[in-house]
Amino acid sequence: MTTIPTSRPGEPRTLCDPATFKTRWVDGLVAAYGRTVRRAPDAHGVIARHAPTAGKVAVVIGGGCGHYPAFAGLVGPGFADAAVVGDVFTSPSAEQVYRTAAAVDGGAGVLFSYGNYAGDVMHFGLAASRLAAEGIDSRTVIVTDDVASATRVADRRGVAGDFVVFKVAGAAADRGDDLATVAELAEHANARTRTFGVAFDGCTLPGQTEPLFTVDRGAVELGLGIHGEPGMRSAEAMDAHELADVLVDQLLPELPDGGDGRVAVILNGLGSTAYEDLFVTYSRVHARLLDAGLQPHRPEVGELVTSMDMAGLSLTLVPLDDPLAELYDAPCETPAFRLSAGGTLLGSAPDTVPEAERRSPSVAPDLADTDPGAGGVAAAALTAALEAVTDAEDELGRLDAVAADGDHGQGIVRGMRAAVAAARSSGTTEVGTALLAAGTALADAAGGASGALFGLLLTETGRRLREVPEIDTGALAAAFAAAQDAVTELGGARPGDKTMVDALDAATGALRAAADRSAGVAAAWREAADAAGEAARGTADLTPSVGRAARLGDRGRGSPDPGATSLALMLDAAATVISERCEEER
Ligand code: ADP
Ligand code: MG
Repeated sequence: MTTIPTSRPGEPRTLCDPATFKTRWVDGLVAAYGRTVRRAPDAHGVIARHAPTAGKVAVVIGGGCGHYPAFAGLVGPGFADAAVVGDVFTSPSAEQVYRTAAAVDGGAGVLFSYGNYAGDVMHFGLAASRLAAEGIDSRTVIVTDDVASATRVADRRGVAGDFVVFKVAGAAADRGDDLATVAELAEHANARTRTFGVAFDGCTLPGQTEPLFTVDRGAVELGLGIHGEPGMRSAEAMDAHELADVLVDQLLPELPDGGDGRVAVILNGLGSTAYEDLFVTYSRVHARLLDAGLQPHRPEVGELVTSMDMAGLSLTLVPLDDPLAELYDAPCETPAFRLSAGGTLLGSAPDTVPEAERRSPSVAPDLADTDPGAGGVAAAALTAALEAVTDAEDELGRLDAVAADGDHGQGIVRGMRAAVAAARSSGTTEVGTALLAAGTALADAAGGASGALFGLLLTETGRRLREVPEIDTGALAAAFAAAQDAVTELGGARPGDKTMVDALDAATGALRAAADRSAGVAAAWREAADAAGEAARGTADLTPSVGRAARLGDRGRGSPDPGATSLALMLDAAATVISERCEEER
């Protein structure tokens, strides 16, 4: 039954047997959220713990599963009274719809609402007839918000707009509206709701090896549904800003007339899109709506109607009027979505967020905007070091991934870009001062353990070199030794612990030896770089005992430490610049 979970390409999604999937996940849902929901008696359905409520219209939603939070996660006070649960992407049967609805009828009738798919229409329709035969009145509101699916509104599919229509119906029923009024308001919500979606990649059904569909590399599918139905058209992959423009441009001409300028907004993740990516996209959506003279009203950014693990997102817009806004904002409590009673916790929230609260923090100077000749020898040496780690970025990432999180290549390149930009913009050719600026910028931009440590290495070296009248080999050796002490004090690593300290210690030792024989700076640096390189390679035989990699112990053996490797590469690249400069000065 339960075997090893895997989501590797080419291997089946085996977390759960497909035959029991629908039952098993609902077991977990009601176990976790039993305070709000319970199983429908003898049916594949979930009903609100408080249901049935005598005299209240029962809102019954549903469809195939694979769309969580739709549908079962939206059951509870202020939202749906019940959700009928079908197999993945498959309508539930009329029998299941009937049993679930009968369980929540409180004598005031049932409002059915679901997305416009043939299977759902048939089975819910049959169930409604059966209820009628037993004297239970019902109405049906079919959601048709997907503008990509058909020209005629009535022919369209229901996608993320489900959330809006169910919310409005649930709130109206909750405040005691009768069946005709609940149906009318839900119809009104559907008539004003429009959605457009895009996919970056397909989703895989339980037990399947291959995704239901795939999206070509470098492409996105526009106008895709929530079951892997083909998109309207493919387009070249685009960034979040362009994507937001496509979504807004598709929807604006489709919006119904009327309303008061407020527009409910849902930027919905389809299952495997990072929330951070959704927010990046949303910032542009928000700006575009304001530009269009619309006021985003209580925007929701997150997963509300998904498609298993599909990568992609959709935008839903609902031009509001007072009746809709009141219901959309009404409190609710469901497993997946909660709203507190009108601002009792927050006071009255501003409708418009002040510009100052939305502005991005100021950013450091971009490398591309700096003068490559500025900043003297320190900037030139750092530039060479940056080129070296840029060339090795992927390899450094791979080394870090052996036993840790794989981000060292990206981190050190980001940090060094900032370091070079800061050294060039420091307004001085004085080595110590330029290094100090570079180290501060590196630590700020790179973050992570290595950001702090490599940043400190530069700032401490810079601080020491600022104090000497002339930078000779002795001064350099003393500065490196002081920097190494600072790095050890901060990170706790000593030589042999398999970190960048191994390369640093070798470099410091070589500088000290060169100073003792009164070697010149260029020769000393070359020796230090070579010693660091050898030490870095030697870290392959060590077992990590400090840093993230330490947790895996012996698994890190056999490949060199990424931080030691990057430090050695940078010292090596800088050696060439330093020897050229020393030649020139001679
Ligand atoms: P993070 O560990 O935060 O993901 P990076 O992946 O950028 O940072 O850098 C990892 C490298 O940082 C390691 O290979 C090691 O050389 C160095 N490092 C991590 N922790 C320490 C430490 N406590 N002392 C010295 N170096 C360390
Ligand atoms: Mg890392």
